[in-house]
Amino acid sequence: MKLAIVVPCYNEEEVLPVTLKRLLGLLSQLRAQGAVDSDSMLLFVDDGSKDRTWELLREAAAADARVQALRLSRNRGHQRALLAGLREAQADAVVSIDADLQDDLGAIVQMVAAAAGGADIVYGVRCQRNSDTAFKRITAEGYYRLLAMFGVEVIFNHADFRLMSRRALEALGKFQESNLFLRGMVPQLGFMTTVVYYERHERHAGNSKYPLAKMLSLAWEGITSFSVAPLRFITLLGLSTCLLALGLGLWALGIGIFTSEAVPGWTSTVVPLAFIGGVQLLSLGVIGEYVGKIYLETKRRPAYFVSERLSPDDAT
Ligand code: UDP
Ligand code: MG
Repeated sequence: MKLAIVVPCYNEEEVLPVTLKRLLGLLSQLRAQGAVDSDSMLLFVDDGSKDRTWELLREAAAADARVQALRLSRNRGHQRALLAGLREAQADAVVSIDADLQDDLGAIVQMVAAAAGGADIVYGVRCQRNSDTAFKRITAEGYYRLLAMFGVEVIFNHADFRLMSRRALEALGKFQESNLFLRGMVPQLGFMTTVVYYERHERHAGNSKYPLAKMLSLAWEGITSFSVAPLRFITLLGLSTCLLALGLGLWALGIGIFTSEAVPGWTSTVVPLAFIGGVQLLSLGVIGEYVGKIYLETKRRPAYFVSERLSPDDAT
């Protein structure tokens, strides 16, 4: 089996030297065990880094033929960088992993073994998240539940650490969407899948390249790219609000007809008005999100452009 390990990197100069060393060590180990072919490689995707990431990759590629790299024309985000790597990797199986060594390299050995046993997709699943902050743990847990509630199929506690066979990659290549949430797309493929459990470590060096805003945007992508449940929820909300208003109207009418009192109060007028106004704005917002998504998808924009490539066959 010819294996490619795809690593998206954005400003990872601090951790890259260690990552390179460890991954090359892993390749040698797999090779020595006879688990992978000698032309297996590491494929780094430089997602428009502004630091020395590309220089480091260039040096590494010159020093070791197993190191290949792509440089995207600008920062396109983790999901697109990853897609670029998956599309461009010439191998029988591809493992995707973050550059920061949070995922356990030992799990790759198990993934390769599972692939040799016939699995097309092997998900790396964290068995504990002690290295994450309580905030990240709680929000992640809540998010997975929300996705499940909305009927989006994802693997719990699996990020983008997985192995995919040639067959699975080709199937993934048929997906044309530009709003990417790979974690939701891969389970749609089917094929023979299995899971490998591992312990997630702390980031080895450098800072997270996923600030809260990027994380929220990916989370929202996951919901709106895979589920129309929010739209359905709005319909239900609208329906219940109408019924409630109807009930209120009948009640007020009853009081006016059968008693001498007027319907008391300012509150009963203003609160429902404000509430219904809010519901309408919210609904418009959600519908707008989906319309916006249609707009972006109809453009069929390419997800990335490769500006440079480092591989042994290039005449450099
Ligand atoms: N990354 C990327 N492009 C970006 C942001 C991040 O390619 O715009 C890469 C980053 O270099 C890393 C991976 O995506 O290899 C995951 O990022 P990070 O480890 O910072 O995220 P966290 O683990 O903190 O969620
Ligand atoms: Mg990380």
